[in-house]
Amino acid sequence: PAMNTYVVTTAPPSPDADPHLGRLAGPFLGADVLTRHLRQRGHHVRYVGYCDEYSTRVASRAAEAGVTPHVLARVVGDRTGDTLALGAMRPDWFTRPLTDAAHAHWVRRFFLALWEAGALEVRELPVFRCAPCDRHLHEAEVRGNCRHCAAPVDGATCGSCGLPQGPGVLAAPRCAACGTEPGTVLRRRIAFPLERYRERLVAHHDGTRDEAGRRGRARAFLDRLLAAGLPLVPVSTVADHGVPVPLPEWEGHVLDTGFSGIWGLVAATERLAEAYGEKDGALPLWSDPATRIVSFTGVDQLFAHVALWPALLLAEGTLGLPARVVVGEDVRPRDAESAAAWNGDFLRRTNADALRFHLCLTAAEQSEKDPSPADFSLGEYADTVATVLAGGLETWTDTVLDLLAQDFHRAVPAAAPAGPMTAERRELTRRTADALGVGAHAPARAAEALAAAVERALIDVHRLRVLRDAGQEGEYATGLAAHVELLAAFTIAAAPLMPGWSAFLAGELGLAVDRETRLPLWADEDERLVPAGTVLPEAVPVYFHEQA
Ligand SMILES: [Zn+2]
Ligand SMILES: [Zn+2]
Repeated sequence: PAMNTYVVTTAPPSPDADPHLGRLAGPFLGADVLTRHLRQRGHHVRYVGYCDEYSTRVASRAAEAGVTPHVLARVVGDRTGDTLALGAMRPDWFTRPLTDAAHAHWVRRFFLALWEAGALEVRELPVFRCAPCDRHLHEAEVRGNCRHCAAPVDGATCGSCGLPQGPGVLAAPRCAACGTEPGTVLRRRIAFPLERYRERLVAHHDGTRDEAGRRGRARAFLDRLLAAGLPLVPVSTVADHGVPVPLPEWEGHVLDTGFSGIWGLVAATERLAEAYGEKDGALPLWSDPATRIVSFTGVDQLFAHVALWPALLLAEGTLGLPARVVVGEDVRPRDAESAAAWNGDFLRRTNADALRFHLCLTAAEQSEKDPSPADFSLGEYADTVATVLAGGLETWTDTVLDLLAQDFHRAVPAAAPAGPMTAERRELTRRTADALGVGAHAPARAAEALAAAVERALIDVHRLRVLRDAGQEGEYATGLAAHVELLAAFTIAAAPLMPGWSAFLAGELGLAVDRETRLPLWADEDERLVPAGTVLPEAVPVYFHEQA
């Protein structure tokens, strides 16, 4: 099969609040699972992200907390990085723009290129202004309701429907500090006329259907946006905190991070290339038509990923557009008990592989018609660990190793694998490959296939015991060999979802593991994984602990 080069990107997490697992789980877990699966299949992948530290939200929240934007951004960014690392979903490069000059450098560079190409306009645009507070209100400083769906909004785009509000437009606006309804004043701003790109955006999204020909949520969102009207997007704002507009007559103005984000991803790609000793590697990668760019986002950043950033890339003209935008759910806790467990520190108290598996298993499948958000329940999580992992996968593993130790001196039987588990193994490999590929990318389906394999393996273990007790040695030996193969195939297929457990069991089974990625190498559905005569351990240490 042809090996491709991928750039996988994730939307930046909240830069102004401690990481919430739900906000990270959607885009970051999805991007990580895809990255691992593609690497397992031999593709070349660069997985990048950045922290939105220049956001005006950081400045507003810092002012509320009585600290400087740098202090707030550092604390939140560090905690976010820790949480991503604990969840084994940290990008290969995760830029911290306030301490990494490359970010601002690339933002300025692309801004100037667009400015000189005439892609940006200078307009008088309304800005909220609070009279009692005597100040202009930036995105998080004015609260109100979405003018499209009426949900509460505290920024330039609606977190519920994802649609932008437009400059100085919000239903029932009020000042976050004093509660007064703000007025608007006209200010000179640099803006990006999105409407110019209507036809090309439609053409681009029409060309990016998934393998099943489904249009997906990104395209459905674009339709709603086209109906609502493509807005004029402000690119500059008057603020102290941000990347200054690099033009002499715009002193005191900074670039909006909604505009900067896409260039931040290019900057992160460049920093990663430099880390590999490939300076100036980002532009060739982003401009090569053979590179496949796959972007992961939550609903709150759909507008940037589906419309603004692709249009900015079209305006820039040399870089490629994402071949696929995957919309991860913003997972919400179901009840108070689950909410209490739902901050980033939960990963310090639980097994990251177990949580990743559960989040994949319960993620709502991407659907245009039913965008019901996934929710997290602590009780359901404990149930997944008890039935599928500790009580399922580990019980099965223990039983297989125990039978080998009792009857075959721990060596895989010489007889060729046979019986129902050989078909199960082929099916599992096929189903996970389909579910985790870039065309479908449905980790929920992979998790379901894995859970189903465990369930059927446990049932088949009873059949093995019956054969053993009945003295049917031949069928027992071939059946047990098939279980070893299925367990090995499971270890390989589950690696993107449960990388820690997979590396652990691959070591115990003696499977080939890639030195750099620690992922067991992908094997086709008929490949023998654990040869006859391989001596396996009598038992393996407990990996999953049941949740109290
Ligand atoms: Zn809305
Ligand atoms: Zn006010």
